[in-house]
Amino acid sequence: LCTKSDEVRLAEEASRKYGSPAPTIFSRVIDKSLPADIIYEDEKCLAFRDITPQAPVHFLVIPRIPIPRISEAKDDDAELLGHLLVVAKNVAKKESLHEGYRVVINDGKHGAQSVYHLHIHVLGGRQMTWPPG
Ligand code: IMP
Repeated sequence: LCTKSDEVRLAEEASRKYGSPAPTIFSRVIDKSLPADIIYEDEKCLAFRDITPQAPVHFLVIPRIPIPRISEAKDDDAELLGHLLVVAKNVAKKESLHEGYRVVINDGKHGAQSVYHLHIHVLGGRQMTWPPG
């Protein structure tokens, strides 16, 4: 689906826009060197189940391009960021989250981000509470 030359092009684009971000575990999900339960993928992004689910359904949507965190996204990433949300809601529907769900992006230390490759969490299948911890 994503050829080697696509990967090289994405890496070049990422280094031009973001410097050379340290590779994360999610780079290995993208290049399939680490097994993951991938439930959707296209030329721009992937969705896969979180390895430590915090709800009956918990998946992550990530761009192939390694944007480290939402606060470092560029204004001209708007179309990609919109695409990630569209994929999040389409996969949520496929996962039968008809009663609703929670969409979360953690950023940096105060956001308790642990993997510095932008990801959208989608959690559902149980009642959520507010405020989050
Ligand atoms: P963060 O705290 O918002 O950065 O979320 C990172 C998420 O990635 C956590 O919910 C982890 O459970 C999840 N995670 C870490 N490594 C893996 C993996 O190899 N596969 C799937 N999910 C992972």
